[in-house]
Amino acid sequence: MTQEYITRTEAKKILRGITDQELLAMPGAMHYKGLWGDVVKVPRSEVEKLAATWKPPESYIREQQRLKNERQMFERARREASFLCELCGEKVKPQSDSTAVLSFLQGRLSLEECRRLVKGAHMRHKHTDYDMLIGAAAEKRYNEIQKERREGMYYDGSDVKYEIQQVRKKILRGLKL
Ligand SMILES: [Zn+2]
Repeated sequence: MTQEYITRTEAKKILRGITDQELLAMPGAMHYKGLWGDVVKVPRSEVEKLAATWKPPESYIREQQRLKNERQMFERARREASFLCELCGEKVKPQSDSTAVLSFLQGRLSLEECRRLVKGAHMRHKHTDYDMLIGAAAEKRYNEIQKERREGMYYDGSDVKYEIQQVRKKILRGLKL
């Protein structure tokens, strides 16, 4: 009978908190270099045998709890920093990876400052042609670069950022936040 193998990711879902070393120590474990890095595979039967009595280590449980608390704090802060937009009548919540919210949680911004940034981002993206202008500026510059390249000129990429900064400044000035 051929042995059925499962991947490291699958094994870690079943044996929560198991380390790579522990997986590799399993009878029949395979370890080789794949196209995208190290590949670890283990026999399903070994994983199931171990799963019958497996208890996640304390450190793993604590880390999971810490991550859960962190996510909850972030969610709470997102709710706190949300606001009702007078222009579209929408209740606007910061993005799930909002830097402003993270800065607020780290104590580098007050709630008011955080909300102002969230508001600014919403106004910019939803109520101005910011995205379109940024896109147009980048495209214009991109075409110029292609032309310069064809003409054999050296280009380091910095002007696109400059162009975008200019558009951003112009819009922020217009918004007077
Ligand atoms: Zn709005």
